[in-house]
Amino acid sequence: MRLEDIKGVGKSRLEALNRAGIHEIGDLLLTLPSSYADTSRTVGMADAPEGESVCVEGEVVRVGRPARFNGRSTVRMTVRDATGSLEIVFINQPWASEQYAAGDMAALYGRVSVMKNGNRGMYCPRKVTERGILPEYRALKEIPLKTLRNIIREALEQADECCPETLPERIRKQWRLPDRGKALRDIHFPPDRESLDAALRRMAFEEVLFFEAGAALMRGSRREGRRFSLKEGDEDAFWAACAFPPTAAQRRVLKEIRDDMTSGRAMGRLVQGDVGSGKTAVAFGAMYLAFVSGYQSALMAPTEILARQHGESAEKILAKLGMRCEVVTGSMKASDRKRLAERVAAGEVDAVIGTHALLSGDIAFSRLGLVVCDEQHRFGVRQRGLLSLKGEGEGAQVHTLVMSATPIPRTLALILYGDLDVSVIDQMPPGRVPVRTRIVPEEKREGMLRFIRQETERGKQAYIVCPLVDENENPELRSAREEFSCLKNGPLKDVSLGVTWGGQKEEEKQRTLSDFASGRISVLVATTVIEVGVNVPLATVMVIENAERFGLSQMHQLRGRVGRGRDESWCFLMASPNERLNALCRTSDGFKIAEEDLRQRGPGDFLGTRQHGQPLLPAAALGGDGRILEEAARCMAELKKEEYAPEREQILRQAEKIWAGRLEAGVLN
Ligand code: ADP
Ligand code: MG
Repeated sequence: MRLEDIKGVGKSRLEALNRAGIHEIGDLLLTLPSSYADTSRTVGMADAPEGESVCVEGEVVRVGRPARFNGRSTVRMTVRDATGSLEIVFINQPWASEQYAAGDMAALYGRVSVMKNGNRGMYCPRKVTERGILPEYRALKEIPLKTLRNIIREALEQADECCPETLPERIRKQWRLPDRGKALRDIHFPPDRESLDAALRRMAFEEVLFFEAGAALMRGSRREGRRFSLKEGDEDAFWAACAFPPTAAQRRVLKEIRDDMTSGRAMGRLVQGDVGSGKTAVAFGAMYLAFVSGYQSALMAPTEILARQHGESAEKILAKLGMRCEVVTGSMKASDRKRLAERVAAGEVDAVIGTHALLSGDIAFSRLGLVVCDEQHRFGVRQRGLLSLKGEGEGAQVHTLVMSATPIPRTLALILYGDLDVSVIDQMPPGRVPVRTRIVPEEKREGMLRFIRQETERGKQAYIVCPLVDENENPELRSAREEFSCLKNGPLKDVSLGVTWGGQKEEEKQRTLSDFASGRISVLVATTVIEVGVNVPLATVMVIENAERFGLSQMHQLRGRVGRGRDESWCFLMASPNERLNALCRTSDGFKIAEEDLRQRGPGDFLGTRQHGQPLLPAAALGGDGRILEEAARCMAELKKEEYAPEREQILRQAEKIWAGRLEAGVLN
């Protein structure tokens, strides 16, 4: 049966489906919901966790008249149940004031946030008209939900033919996984939470298992690498050139890298370490080892500023060791770039440091041996593959090293970086003072701003991070631009302020960031763009607005922007106190925090925030906790046993089929 044979799929619907990459019934059934609105249970207003979408039900206490503000109409309303109350704000829905009246009972579905006035509330909640677990399909929002659900219902009748079973029966039995057809039916039409969880678990298990099988195939096919001639202790000269003695962890990881380089196989290694654990030194050490072996190396940084900072550090350490280092950026003059490209091609440069500008065709190496990606977790993994292609054509593959500043649990690393070996720098350089982290409820905001002013008077600097760029996205959350103008005209008017966000003109952004780095700007209001590592040692305060909106790992990452100098540093989480945020106040160990995040929020935060299209593993991103990763990893390990040979064969063959194109390109995720 074809897609267009389904009732309700005419020409225009078919085109809409095709645009979303859906060409067959199987594609449609495997397009999982992006989320669910669970209106099957009601949560007490006082208990509703901030940052999560829930269904509440209670009495309307008060409904305001529509008010116009900044070109928007706003209706405010208060609802109350036995546990407490919530403030409801409707934007551009003036009819809301007619829809509800004081004394009515109302059931609402929405996300609970701390509003600007400090009260807990919901912004633009939906009126609940249907109880149940209702799927939402972001990728298919062109088609009205009701129509879409009818189409899917019909398609599901073909589930067993169009989406055949992929897991051997023995595995399904052992791990108590429903068969594929039932899982898909329950995912699109969940009868209850239990069946949905089982169905998601089954699909997530399959995703993770095949991903890991693909990664195993890829590791197995890693080709012959450039064999560096190095011996024990070759890195000693490097450590001696550093301004500090290495930590034991740094020393160990560089040794692991040296072993890879001499193994004859191409290195593909991820170095994980908390912010400030000293990954740069390890990367430089690897570049030095390439140099000693007579090879060039390239270091790719996620931002221009960071590339320059690395360039300056390289000047201090690597140049001292006789290496010729150069920085390439996008904003370089064409003539300079041309001259540099010539020198790189002639082998007159030993280490090139740059942004993705490094990738464009004009820079060709004469003897590239090592590529380092200072990934800071936002880098397109695909670019990593691209850069190592630059060394192609000489037979053996280039060694690749990826530095990641986002500590993640091992089970997750297997997925996000399954095709890489992993080293962990699990130790901080001595003398680090942990950043003091506090939850700051709204009523203490003024005091906090006073504190920031005092700090700036002493020459210190502060970041204020907001979840949004501008308030039109959601007027009840703090936005960077609005906060900037508020502070500038009010509490911080005598302090030099700057603002930056992702979509800001590149030039302007660079100028703002470098003004902050040089101290011309004391307080930087920003979105999470600053997560990508700028090193400003005088910055001692990090404020995170609407902390309930962020994942713990992301906040830990932000917190890593301060505490880089000798002075005591602070991180203020703007939110009402809760257990989740407490975890962040208690520990400064990024790995522990990541595990907590995984346990509490599931792997979605890690898997689900990719720049384009579907998350990497849609079912795993949707489904519950991190246990599934562990289970699939255990199953994968078990498949290595002889008694599982037939199942192993079946799974590897299936993985080959799924990942065919990507295995060829050498990049899984
Ligand atoms: P990250 O792992 O976040 O990239 P960096 O490499 O930027 O960390 O290092 C953070 C700071 O710690 C830098 O100023 C660096 O010079 C310093 N550092 C690195 N290793 C050590 C060490 N072994 N002893 C003392 N300071 C170190
Ligand atoms: Mg770094």
